Amino acid sequence: MTIYKNLIAGEWVGLDATKNINPSDTNEVVGLYADGTTEDTKNAIAAAKAAFPAWSRSGIWERHVILKKAGDEIMARKDELGALLAREEGKTLPEAIGETIRASQIFEFFAGEALRLAGEVIPSVRPNIGVEITRDPLGVIGIITPWNFPIAIPAWKIAPALCYGNTVVFKPAELVPGCSWAIVDILHRAGLPKGVLNLVMGKGSVVGQAMLDSPDVTGITFTGSTGTGRRVAAASIEHNRKFQLEMGGKNPMVVLDDADLTVAVEAAANSGFFSTGQRCTASSRLIVTEGIHDKFVAALTEKLQALVVDNAMKPGTHIGPVVDERQLKTDTDYIEIGRKEGAKLAFGGELITRETPGFYLQPTLFTEATNQMRISREEIFGPVVSVIRVKDYEEALATANDTPFGLSAGIATTSLKHATHFKRNSEAGMVMVNLPTAGVDFHVPFGGRKGSSYGPREQGKYAAEFYTSVKTAYTLA
Ligand code: NDP
Repeated sequence: MTIYKNLIAGEWVGLDATKNINPSDTNEVVGLYADGTTEDTKNAIAAAKAAFPAWSRSGIWERHVILKKAGDEIMARKDELGALLAREEGKTLPEAIGETIRASQIFEFFAGEALRLAGEVIPSVRPNIGVEITRDPLGVIGIITPWNFPIAIPAWKIAPALCYGNTVVFKPAELVPGCSWAIVDILHRAGLPKGVLNLVMGKGSVVGQAMLDSPDVTGITFTGSTGTGRRVAAASIEHNRKFQLEMGGKNPMVVLDDADLTVAVEAAANSGFFSTGQRCTASSRLIVTEGIHDKFVAALTEKLQALVVDNAMKPGTHIGPVVDERQLKTDTDYIEIGRKEGAKLAFGGELITRETPGFYLQPTLFTEATNQMRISREEIFGPVVSVIRVKDYEEALATANDTPFGLSAGIATTSLKHATHFKRNSEAGMVMVNLPTAGVDFHVPFGGRKGSSYGPREQGKYAAEFYTSVKTAYTLA
């Protein structure tokens, strides 16, 4: 089998490899991907550092053309890349193609942003002095990504990093290197100069750690778990380096008595269970007022009964497998914890066998949960959702905000008053009215508050906040 190698200083390198396994069919090896070392990472950082002066001064047209070319190729290959994504991560083929299209759109967006770089010219408070405010690239950006969006998250970090003139060392999650390799290959062939984008696949504890330890990495953008995020933060403060963290969530969706039942059930089923509940924006707490509670639980349970859990590549599958054995164990451990805490298992909770061997788990719904139970406070990151019954809107809002996280929050209601109040008073970074908490646009800011995020927002024009450093220049006229 071919080994997909790391890209360091414009050369494909690496002899040792790790198997990329299909979670829908554990007999299938998706590919062999290089296992980077500390030395590889150091070489990649050195290459990115050496490439920075020229790339940071490169013309914006050159950056535009490369990013546009990459976006076009990803779109042209959406079915093939979508299939690769579904095979390595386990989300259904339509979801995976959708994510691939989104990656293409992100490159298109930042191809445009490259042509819209601007500063400000402002009069000084002192006479005969002009002030210019410009944005400079940061330098070498370390990009560390999780396994749950194998193409979109790399795209929304790599595209702005390059757009604003930075060079990159990119480490994808070990479980899903395939899509990352593909987009780095696409960008390399699109004409990026040597060393501008370096790919080092391998273990977080080796490659990721070497990035954290390097004084030459000027900024780190990280998406992943809260635990690893804290390590990134601590190491970055040590090196006086800019960093951005997107971490976990325990996103609430409030369902009020006056909600349109169909809208509420669709939104809850989608954001709780699609992509196997493995989205940082998934709703894992459904906070439901008394008057609609029983109707809502009955309708949602009926909906869950109709959802097909099977091989991600199979037509008709609604929910693919859990990503790997370790995550499956986390999910089943939490199901056990929920039972012991006294929540009622209203649906699911069991492992399922399918034609191909994989990590299949029924969508799982707990009712009679409280917001103090561990299943309501800790991120599970699987298709496991709890319903919390509350008296009224005020209690629903207080419960929604009573969490260490603050990524996304939703409300299902036909009341303008409550929708407006919720948008203003939710403590989450993103608020959805009559929509799933997951599913966001690519051209507007993405990010959370409290324990979910740290640093500037990602995506859209707000991405410039992280990937650039502001300079204020004064000139005597
Ligand atoms: P992890 O934190 O385990 O891993 C994230 C990345 O960090 C991986 O590339 C991992 O490498 C790497 N890493 C691990 N250890 C280190 C280290 N010591 N130094 C540097 N890098 C390291 O998260 P998961 O991949 O398990 O992703 C799931 C988590 O991500 C969930 O908690 C989820 O909520 C969160 N997430 C948040 C999002 C958001 O935007 N808020 C979006 C998507 C996910 P390796 O794979 O080799 O271990």
